[in-house]
Amino acid sequence: MADKEEVFVGSIDQGTTSSRFLIFNKAGEPVAVHQEEFTQIYPNPGWHEHDPEGIIKSVENCIEGAIKIFEKDGHSKDSIKAIGITNQRETTVVWDTTTGEALHNAIVWTDTRTAGIARELKAQQGSDKIMNICGEPISSYPSATKLLWLLKNVEKVRKVYEAGNLAFGTIDTWLTYKLNGGPEKNVFVSDPTNASRTMFMDIRKLQYSDEMLEFLSYEFDLKKVHMPKIVRSADKEVYGKLSSGPLKGFPIMGCLGDQSAALVGQKGFEAGSAKNTYGTGCFLLYNTGDKPIISTHGLLTTVAFDFDGKPVYALEGSIAVAGSGVKFLMNNLGFSHASHKITELAESVPDNGGLVFVTAFSGLFAPYWIDDAHGTMFGITHHIERGHIARATLEAVCFQTKAILDAMQKDSGHELKELKVDGGMSNSALCMQTQADLVGIPIVRPKMRETTALGAAIAAGFASGVWKTFDELKEVNTAGQTTFEAKLDKQASAKMFKRWSKAVTMSKGWLAEE
Ligand code: ADP
Repeated sequence: MADKEEVFVGSIDQGTTSSRFLIFNKAGEPVAVHQEEFTQIYPNPGWHEHDPEGIIKSVENCIEGAIKIFEKDGHSKDSIKAIGITNQRETTVVWDTTTGEALHNAIVWTDTRTAGIARELKAQQGSDKIMNICGEPISSYPSATKLLWLLKNVEKVRKVYEAGNLAFGTIDTWLTYKLNGGPEKNVFVSDPTNASRTMFMDIRKLQYSDEMLEFLSYEFDLKKVHMPKIVRSADKEVYGKLSSGPLKGFPIMGCLGDQSAALVGQKGFEAGSAKNTYGTGCFLLYNTGDKPIISTHGLLTTVAFDFDGKPVYALEGSIAVAGSGVKFLMNNLGFSHASHKITELAESVPDNGGLVFVTAFSGLFAPYWIDDAHGTMFGITHHIERGHIARATLEAVCFQTKAILDAMQKDSGHELKELKVDGGMSNSALCMQTQADLVGIPIVRPKMRETTALGAAIAAGFASGVWKTFDELKEVNTAGQTTFEAKLDKQASAKMFKRWSKAVTMSKGWLAEE
């Protein structure tokens, strides 16, 4: 029988390929989990959409599924003190404030249809000042260009905008709005870790920037669009309560964008700590403390968390394709039906056989920011077999991580001592060993790798008083971690990286003259 005094925190983890609901105990262990994949929509090359209603349904199903397990194990749902949300970032939803209905599929963060809009923005006067205000370079990645595309291209969206009823939200906002019951309760908020991915927010003030909105309003008046109120990542009141399902009436008290949540879940609370999450994409966050550092080496400045009105910042290196490269080998090239088989295939060869795969399916993100880079393989010979392609796919993420770490060192002036890792692709020991070999510092992988969900639970746990200090969390998820030490000699590692860098240079500009 479960301990009556025990308390738990629920965590909604709304990712790019699946949704999950996890229930954590005070020791940070997940005691019940339910996960559901949902449909990926690719209407055109480079386009990537999600059905916003489908996302809500998947989250509701996950809550139901996990609660069933939780109760079957003898727990009472009344022991759940709060719910946290973590979500895929940048992905953009627009809806009608009068009906609460989405007006278009969500445009997913990986989508590159807005590369043209990004080019137009870059050509505008004042584009050189953008980084310093919002912390991000102009590209197809932030939500801003996605909203502009929807206004430009979807009549239904434009009509609602003209009527003054257009709401914009990232997935955190959409989730809290809908889970609270939509227009009736009208809970319309976003936390700074999510809002810092839109280009609309002043990274220092944590409020919408007039200058940014003006800069982006070259065709549409973005001040006419309803934007969510920016609130703290942990708060007792502002996120509302679930309006239906088995947890009806339970409060949402925490919210963090997925990469910030992973940093929190890895307990990267102190300046100088870093984590790398190898999911659909791969994201390295380096905690820089209470001051934002504006990168001069291709990194983003983002909010790590804001639990108490004193925001903590991070430098971020974003890689568009990580696990999605593995999925590409499985779904498009028929290499296998299981991700771990791709690692096994990669292990069937002793090295990459001279093959470099620049997995620039959505251009190249940090630290390169090449919108028109295309996926390209270099070094194909009669020697190359599927194992080499699998290996080169895993290596592509490791090379980009190495480039990001080099950039971070330059921006921060500090050398990282170890890198904490998580995310689906970190299951691959080969990939993690390669990473250690390329960056030359220990790679530390926890046993429990649901760190993103744990981060959201920690945010909600702080607001609800389940945890009160960072110190209390020190021992959480430290048992059974694996450390990968660099084994490859430095010269061989440098040679591999040199080849990669050459391949990156050669991957850009394809089709540029058409
Ligand atoms: P997200 O939260 O972005 O949806 P996850 O963290 O769940 O992503 O990671 C899923 C990705 O990890 C998938 O693309 C999958 O192919 C990849 N992955 C999972 N296990 C392995 C493995 N053993 N080897 C290589 N890739 C893996």
